[in-house]
Amino acid sequence: MKVGILYICTGKYSVFWKDFYESAESLLLRGHDKQYFVFTDATEIAYEQKENVHKIFEEKYEWPLPTVLRFHAFVRAEDLLKKMDYLFFFNANMKVVSEITGEDIFPDPVKEDGLTVVLHSGYYKAKSSQFPYEKYKGSLAYLESGRYYFQGSFSGGTSAAYLKMAHQLKENIQKDLDNNFIATWWDESHLNKYMVDKNPKIVSPAYSYSEGKQFEFAPKLLMLNKAKLGSYKYMRGQKESLLEKIKYFIKKKIK
Ligand code: UDP
Repeated sequence: MKVGILYICTGKYSVFWKDFYESAESLLLRGHDKQYFVFTDATEIAYEQKENVHKIFEEKYEWPLPTVLRFHAFVRAEDLLKKMDYLFFFNANMKVVSEITGEDIFPDPVKEDGLTVVLHSGYYKAKSSQFPYEKYKGSLAYLESGRYYFQGSFSGGTSAAYLKMAHQLKENIQKDLDNNFIATWWDESHLNKYMVDKNPKIVSPAYSYSEGKQFEFAPKLLMLNKAKLGSYKYMRGQKESLLEKIKYFIKKKIK
């Protein structure tokens, strides 16, 4: 199968790309034709000379727009992406740490609506009343209740189903932006809204395993701890106050 890997790394996040690519080349979907679509503003990235690496310019927007505008970027690249059989998005700080096969993540195009999502590692045991769905009624992501809470860090599907979703979510997110609103959990809030009347393939939080946490299962996709490289604000290119810089410094010293 031809599988498009969707990967966004603008600003400081391009530091994660090399590890991701190397781990995916060795453990992800062996035997399939993987094509990497790397949305970045970096002038140079590791392995960019490889035939399966396609660099696509993505502006470095201010946080949280790099994540909020992800579906805008996928729709812009649609002509390339629709040539794939499947598309899968990975957060930039992901690393593949155990073999992942097509059987593990490819959804059934009909029974599973051609879509794959991952249970949120922070909510897979929570009661549905605790799920952090968007509660502002004016948002297109507004959702009163649902059965699951999915994490935005990993999602995919057949290219037809995924691009259909990308169009819808781009439109919904844009309408919110036009109304000067960004959903509480950004694209993730919209993803959860979209899934509420779908029957996607659901994979375990092993596919979104936060580094340093202890779960009762082994990780497949490890989400590297960004805070090891600097505070979240630093990584996301936001201004840190002096107090925040000091707090981060002290936290690092204590660890
Ligand atoms: N991202 C990016 N540049 C940034 C901030 C975020 O490319 O300056 C992209 C990157 O793909 C990242 C995703 O947006 O994995 C989500 O951002 P982040 O990891 O900070 O959010 P979290 O997953 O912690 O909610």
